[in-house]
Amino acid sequence: MSGPGAGTPRIRADREVCIGAGLCVMTAEDVFDQDDDGLVVLLEPDPPPAARERVRQAVRNCPSGALSLVEE
Ligand code: SF4
Repeated sequence: MSGPGAGTPRIRADREVCIGAGLCVMTAEDVFDQDDDGLVVLLEPDPPPAARERVRQAVRNCPSGALSLVEE
């Protein structure tokens, strides 16, 4: 039995949707990066608990909706 937020969510980043705004990198640079085209690169699909809050913030702030969390 596990309630919401009990596990560490995995991140999904859709590079087809990303517009390269870079907000996620500014919010959690240990988890997200951008390639030469400015598109998001996921450095850490399973973020450590310490990064969880910043990851949630990055997902909320992404202007294109390219980022999502998969609760397991
Ligand atoms: S915040 Fe969203 S649109 Fe901007 S680089 Fe990150 S994934 Fe792409």
